Amino acid sequence: MSHIPYSCQDIDDDDIAAVTAVLRSEYLTQGPMVAQFEDAFARRVGARHAVAVANATAALHVACLALGVAAGSRVWTSPNSFLASANCALYCGASVDFVDIDPVTRSMSVAALRGKLERAAECDELPQVIVPVDFAGLPCDLREMRELADKYGFALLEDASHATGASYQGQPVGSGHAHATVFSFHAVKIVTTAEGGIVTTRDAALAKRLRLLRSHGMTREPRDLLGEADGPWVYEQQLLGYNYRLTDLQAALGWSQLRRLDALHKARVALADRYDLLLRDLPLLLPARLPDRVSAWHLYVVEVDGARTACRRATLFDALRRAQIGANVHYIPIHTQPYYTSLGFKRGDFPAAERYYARAITLPLFPAMTHAQQDRVVDVLRGALR
Ligand SMILES: *Cc1c(COP(=O)(O)O)cnc(C)c1O
Repeated sequence: MSHIPYSCQDIDDDDIAAVTAVLRSEYLTQGPMVAQFEDAFARRVGARHAVAVANATAALHVACLALGVAAGSRVWTSPNSFLASANCALYCGASVDFVDIDPVTRSMSVAALRGKLERAAECDELPQVIVPVDFAGLPCDLREMRELADKYGFALLEDASHATGASYQGQPVGSGHAHATVFSFHAVKIVTTAEGGIVTTRDAALAKRLRLLRSHGMTREPRDLLGEADGPWVYEQQLLGYNYRLTDLQAALGWSQLRRLDALHKARVALADRYDLLLRDLPLLLPARLPDRVSAWHLYVVEVDGARTACRRATLFDALRRAQIGANVHYIPIHTQPYYTSLGFKRGDFPAAERYYARAITLPLFPAMTHAQQDRVVDVLRGALR
């Protein structure tokens, strides 16, 4: 019985040829392929600017900095996310807080956000940046969040690490509902550069700061120099940046993968539709379908419906793992992690995220998954739930 992973990269001969071509070229580090990948990505998601960096964690960090997050700032995010969505604020010396999730979208709840903003406004403790997460690839409630951003004056930094190829109200995610949008190209994500990330924005000044921050705060552009140039060799450090550059090897892989985004997405949609059909009579809560948005289907997460079965999530998980099926759980609420409880958060703070977590299980989903593999997953679930 072969192992079925929960996720798996999809590399073809064109991807390999694109990377190999870079190995034979002049540049290995950040060079012309990075610019080519950025242009292609910006075009694909309808963004004015795209700035590629070493990974999405770095992308969240520089996006926070470019949006002005600093010591004393407040940043809010969703507890149902990967650690990086919250850590990025702490890197900048800011404080982090969470907004509970909507049980339907499993992303940040607009109602909870509105209430928390009203209370924060009263005591003059409004956040500077809010980081909603497009959980599992389903876009969060971007229109309502942008309205709140405009009303309360915070910047919306969308963590779309799961959502490459998703769309919201007819527009691609990353095209400009948020002030800045971050995507991840980690190997398990929709398209991969092995490790990599990108920030898209409509704001030219923000894009310029992001380019400085990813490479030591340094520029060689004659028209951007603040001082008098001693000569054509001059480079200037204008702020404190990092070495967060993507390599041309990675960008070539990303550029090649991006050309297949539609096909990769179509395969995920078909598998998600098939899961819906095969699982509909089981005591499971299936992922939401909303008429105004298209999920990227990074993850297919079901919740064990305690009202209809005595079977526990752990039992299902064990059954799947015993059958060589790579079930997973996304996510342990960030605020319950030891590091975050050491900052003062505690179990019970965000009950919807905790309730969701207690019964969630991520089923395998990747473009090359066969119907036979999917049937095996469903058979094990059916057996365990009987
Ligand atoms: C994967 C992921 C990240 C971090 O991405 P890296 O590219 O691995 O740094 C951040 N946020 C979310 C929601 C993710 O899933």
